[in-house]
Amino acid sequence: MIAKSLQESDKQPQKSFSAAEIGLILKAAHFAANKHKSQKRKGAEASPYINHPLEVADLIWNAGQYHDPEVVCAAILHDTVEDTETTFNEIEELFGKRIASLVKEVTDDKSLPKAERKTLQIEHAPHLTEGASLIKLADKTSNVKDIVNDPPPDWSEERQHDYVEWTKLVVNKLAPVCPPLKEHYERNYQSAKATLAKQAKKIRD
Ligand code: ZN
Repeated sequence: MIAKSLQESDKQPQKSFSAAEIGLILKAAHFAANKHKSQKRKGAEASPYINHPLEVADLIWNAGQYHDPEVVCAAILHDTVEDTETTFNEIEELFGKRIASLVKEVTDDKSLPKAERKTLQIEHAPHLTEGASLIKLADKTSNVKDIVNDPPPDWSEERQHDYVEWTKLVVNKLAPVCPPLKEHYERNYQSAKATLAKQAKKIRD
């Protein structure tokens, strides 16, 4: 299977990337790691927060086979403004206008109540640029898996279930930007639902 997929990818013209592009990705990883350094994911394992943005970037590049270094940088940085002291100006100065604008597109307005932010994500989803749609899709793909595999200790199954269904509402509104990544999301979504159904059955039995 691995051999086959390598052969298939060999048939596609391979883009090569410059030292400056790879440098920018590493700079984003280092910047985000510093910004998130004292944060943990909500799950019981409390894994380092940076695992999440790195997974989002990995999903876009490898599962999605979408190779745009600026989108990958924005994916790595996507939670810095929402969840740390980072400003959009800081991102623009260090990483340029396009990356700052991609991060802005996927950043919630934290001054709004949570329920409203969640509704706005559904409403904004169809209007996102291609790069921002990719980041949103990869973000939900990562979160759906984490919520069920390593749920926050204070989240009931109902809350997990509602969260998983909400990600589906957002994803369904996104433009069809990357079929392989969408398939990956679908697999995570189905497996999250199966896990939750199994847990619900255990409780009933
Ligand atoms: Zn995120």
